[in-house]
Amino acid sequence: MKKRILIVEDDLLIAESMRDAIYECGYDVANIVTNGLDAINEVVEDCPDLVLMDIRIQGTMDGIETAKEIYSKFEIPIVYLTANADSDTLNRAKHSIFYGYLVKPISEVNLNATLQLAFHKYEADKLLKASQESFHNIVEKNATGIIITDTDGVVQYINPAVEQIFNGKTKSIIGKQFSSIISTGITDIDITRKDGEIGIAEMYTTESEWEGKFAQLTMINDVTERRNKERELIHLSVTDHLTNLLNRRGMIKKIEDEKRRSDRAVNPFTLILCDIDKFKTINDTYGHIMGDIVLKGISKILLRSIRKIDSAARWGGDEFLLLLPETDQKGGLIVAEKIKNMLDNTSILVVNNVKIPVTLTFGVGTLNKNSNINESISKIDNALYQGKTNGRNCTVTINDLSK
Ligand code: GH3
Ligand code: MG
Repeated sequence: MKKRILIVEDDLLIAESMRDAIYECGYDVANIVTNGLDAINEVVEDCPDLVLMDIRIQGTMDGIETAKEIYSKFEIPIVYLTANADSDTLNRAKHSIFYGYLVKPISEVNLNATLQLAFHKYEADKLLKASQESFHNIVEKNATGIIITDTDGVVQYINPAVEQIFNGKTKSIIGKQFSSIISTGITDIDITRKDGEIGIAEMYTTESEWEGKFAQLTMINDVTERRNKERELIHLSVTDHLTNLLNRRGMIKKIEDEKRRSDRAVNPFTLILCDIDKFKTINDTYGHIMGDIVLKGISKILLRSIRKIDSAARWGGDEFLLLLPETDQKGGLIVAEKIKNMLDNTSILVVNNVKIPVTLTFGVGTLNKNSNINESISKIDNALYQGKTNGRNCTVTINDLSK
């Protein structure tokens, strides 16, 4: 379909010659009007593809005022058609958006070139505007907070997500120093969340450009929930679900950490391995659920018998391992005795007031710089086994856990 051009020209002779030239150039003429108001009405009703606008026209609005109105409301491209090329008129025209400036008398060649270029530039502008709008939407609607700072760390732009993440406290940071951004890379920062809780935001800063200059682009995400879940998963991965003590994996990690620490400090540490005596019988007599309650009861007694810096783990089915940092063999024996006494004096109470007598057999060993963890645990396990063969409810110690 041919493009349709509205002519706004109060000199009818010129208007008619323009109409002929427009046809010759391969376009249609939507209409010819002589003043601004008619031009606007015509745009509203007929929606032409371009307006060829004389600057001095009839009526209260001149061509430039009319052009401004038409472009701002309808975004239809304007080409000025005028006898005036004085600097005053040019300056006024500069403040409007237009796609060509034809000075009368106008040749068909000039008109053709100007119209072709006007349509071409208008299409290019539309594409540019659409891509700017998409970019703007992506940034403005992004759930990731985006902060642009100049090379001095002064904030140039923030998107709405930043306000959300900082709980509305960032509106006033534009133009101010965003001091936490010093270097590129990933950092964590504390944030106060809507509920007043302190959360964690992860910031990733990279070098970028902003309005043609070097800048830093920082992306911020509230990772509080994710980090809490990760922490929970880590906790679950090292916790025994029945007793809530450390599991074997968690205890191995603790022992390895303690071994490194004690090697540096040249202080020994002690491990106590204990196993419930005749636990199968307890299960068989009272049932598996009661057995579980016994395991939980033993866990509580173990925790009550050790210091804060000590750790307790469920090492296997009815087997527990205690880690006692900065403790020698003598100290380990005292703890084992303490547990034994507690068990003697505390029958494990279960439902229906059934009291189940429980005893443990202990293997105790102290590790030093020359000890190997796996070999030591294996030797302590042998000591425990020795205790079982000795008649149970007793403690067997290993005197030398050096390699
Ligand atoms: P010993 O004095 O030689 O240790 O005899 P024991 O009967 O305790 O023998 P052992 O230590 O080999 O048996 C452990 C039993 O613990 C076997 C298993 O049925 C039971 N058990 C393991 N895990 C659980 C559990 O989670 N709950 C319950 N109720 N029983 C468990
Ligand atoms: Mg047992």
